[in-house]
Amino acid sequence: MRDYYDILGVPRTATLEEIKAAYRKLALQYHPDRNPGNKEAEERFKEIAEAYAVLSDPEKRRLYDRYGHAGLQSSGSPTPHFTTLEDVFSYFANFFADDFFRDLFGTPTGTASSHRPPTERGDDIPIRLRLTLEEIAQGTEKTIELSRWNTCPSCKGTGSQAGQLQPCPQCHGRGEVQHVSRSVFGHVIQILTCPTCGGTGTVIRDPCPKCHGEGRLWGTATLTLRIPPGTIGGTRLTIRGEGHAGQRGAPPGDLVVLIEETEHPIFQRKGSDIHATYALSFPEAVLGTVVEVPTVWGTSTVKIQPGTQPGTVIRLPGQGLPSGDARRRGDHYVHVTVYIPEKLTTEEQQLVEQLRQSPFIYPPERRVQPSGTGKPKDEKQNSFWKRVRHHRPR
Ligand SMILES: [Zn+2]
Ligand SMILES: [Zn+2]
Repeated sequence: MRDYYDILGVPRTATLEEIKAAYRKLALQYHPDRNPGNKEAEERFKEIAEAYAVLSDPEKRRLYDRYGHAGLQSSGSPTPHFTTLEDVFSYFANFFADDFFRDLFGTPTGTASSHRPPTERGDDIPIRLRLTLEEIAQGTEKTIELSRWNTCPSCKGTGSQAGQLQPCPQCHGRGEVQHVSRSVFGHVIQILTCPTCGGTGTVIRDPCPKCHGEGRLWGTATLTLRIPPGTIGGTRLTIRGEGHAGQRGAPPGDLVVLIEETEHPIFQRKGSDIHATYALSFPEAVLGTVVEVPTVWGTSTVKIQPGTQPGTVIRLPGQGLPSGDARRRGDHYVHVTVYIPEKLTTEEQQLVEQLRQSPFIYPPERRVQPSGTGKPKDEKQNSFWKRVRHHRPR
């Protein structure tokens, strides 16, 4: 354990004023508001707070000077041990409520429950926005209408008809009042939110007749949202300042847009890739063709090779969704199937019946020579298939 005098960098003979000054300097240097996210600074801040808590208390300092750390632990006046920043703030908020500490801890940090911002910012508005995969691919603009609190146009959010706020007579603009009570430890000073102004530090003597001093009015707002390409389902877009207006000019909340994907009739998304099936007719699969397949970008021309098998997957590079930086795109995958018609005209039936006679429309293991039809052209294959028992399929 480090020596408390070393921590504050003061000699053992330092006066209370010197200790106070040294602490103030270090506390400002390592204050979490000035070192956000810096764990090392946080540890130092807690350490110097602990040193100060002991050395600024005459009884604790006397015990520490005589017996060191152990002396404090065995006494009825133990060292305050600060494991979290909140410990530090609540300790000093309750016991040292003078201007010195008000300066030090007066800024809202979010950790000190007794120090809130003077006014509450407006609430966020969460909405859901459903987009098709085409809209996600290409980006889109959506006009939406919201019901929300809007800044009062008459008083411009101040809540005062003349636009002038007066300092609160009870707290003189501080937003806080001190409450002193006696206890076995002596005077305990607590800081409370001012009941007159609710912590804002100001009062309105001429409330705006339109909003009755609220500074905001319930109404609607029409907004056009620009959705960038590649904004997939599950994304949250935060539109700063488009939430509810705050009371009496406090900052507005945000509009938080949760993107949802509408189910697509033919496309399936996997990451930034799109998968879709495409059904060819039997002749198209056999003879090959050129088809227009739909993608999220419109259509794409795809060459179908003769003899394309069902289950063939054709990759169209860069025809999927934008991913990450909008310059890279996923791919579109065409999963080929072959459509088998269920109803045929008599004429078509005859055509297919003719086709049935051809051995080459059968898979090799079933390729037989039906009676009364042409011979397979390949003589080698023919000699092989001669050994297979003749039968007509179906
Ligand atoms: Zn108003
Ligand atoms: Zn007040």
